[in-house]
Amino acid sequence: MLTSVPRGTKDILPDTIHQWLYLEEKIRELCAKYGFNEIRTPLFEHTELFLRGIGETTDVVEKEMYTFEDRGGRSITLRPENTASAVRAYLQNKLYADNNLTKLFYIGSMFRYDKPQAGRYREFHQFGVEAIGEQNPLMDAEVISLGADFLKELGLTDVILKINSVGCPKCRPVYREKLQAFFKDKFEHLCKDCQSRFDRNPLRILDCKNPTCKELSVGVPEITDCLCDECADHFEHLQHHLKAIGVDFVLDPRLVRGLDYYTKTAFEFKYTPLGAQSAVLGGGRYDGLIEECGGNPTPAVGFATGLERVLLALETQQLLPKNKEKCTVFIVAMGDKAKEPAFKLLHELRSKNIAALMDYAGRSMKAQMKQANKHNAQYAIILGEDEIDKQIATVRNMNDSEQMEIPFDTLIDKIIFEVNK
Ligand code: AMP
Repeated sequence: MLTSVPRGTKDILPDTIHQWLYLEEKIRELCAKYGFNEIRTPLFEHTELFLRGIGETTDVVEKEMYTFEDRGGRSITLRPENTASAVRAYLQNKLYADNNLTKLFYIGSMFRYDKPQAGRYREFHQFGVEAIGEQNPLMDAEVISLGADFLKELGLTDVILKINSVGCPKCRPVYREKLQAFFKDKFEHLCKDCQSRFDRNPLRILDCKNPTCKELSVGVPEITDCLCDECADHFEHLQHHLKAIGVDFVLDPRLVRGLDYYTKTAFEFKYTPLGAQSAVLGGGRYDGLIEECGGNPTPAVGFATGLERVLLALETQQLLPKNKEKCTVFIVAMGDKAKEPAFKLLHELRSKNIAALMDYAGRSMKAQMKQANKHNAQYAIILGEDEIDKQIATVRNMNDSEQMEIPFDTLIDKIIFEVNK
């Protein structure tokens, strides 16, 4: 117990942290290009926010939330996603006051009591964007294009974008009735969850992972046949805009997504080699959520992508960056007499912004050179008792093994010169 993480969680260790920093750097560059600003919200919120926001009939709310009572008797939930929190922050901080359109992005941990497997964890990391305040389908197209760009800039190929429209409160009741009529004589064979969804939210049946329910929904009526004029028009314009900017997509009338707040546009980027966890990025429009959370009716659209899945996908195409750890100088101090001068030199190099390391344990020359290699040092500075007596250091270029003898008083300048050559 004491030496293992809870199931479904992982340490991100120093040998892979560069992969995460790489993703974060790409995300920040991309979001700056698209004019999205970073937001960081608390890891936990009042449970009510997610009940209202995500929808009480969703798997996330019914089965996956980490909910507990705090010592003050409040019901608290670790955030299972970040959209509801972003909307809460938008309302609480009146982010709408200065702008008609608020464009936010976030990177952080989410928590779901999911069944852990490759690409599915209980603590996972999402990068997501939210554009709040614009109803034009150009906004949907921009958000989708940002998602496409993110995956493209990482070099990932063979990703399929699926889009759908899930309608609005005006046209969804029509579809609901059609769905109920379709599933009526299959009701007995549906899983328990879907039986309870039948009345409460039959759309959710389409999102059920149970194989029987999946089979039973073959031939289900398509929502796109039931859209009201406004939703149909929005969907048509979106397709037009995506084509105009060369973002390829396929229509998937069964795509409903796992969260209840979606209206009109729903989309998902799939990378099929990840099997059951092939959804790498998903999102949609959520025009009702801001009002549901207590604000004025405000249109919005966004997406979230699971960074663990993105890394898994990059791995399958050998696109993960190499570990960039590089210490410029490794000081090899031999013998007690060399230790303090070496330590002083270490300090001086660092004060000149040169990444430097040394060994304190008094290991052998061979062991210290091995360490220098392990840290990808460009130079090793060898200081032994002899060198201290003569006030001359031996500097070895670790790439070509050339050695130079440099007097102490010019050592730092020489290293700076060599590094910047
Ligand atoms: P969602 O918030 O459910 O729309 O999911 C958005 C994205 O988050 C998915 O496309 C996945 O990439 C990722 N994701 C969702 N749940 C998990 C999980 N349990 N573990 C890892 N990634 C996840």
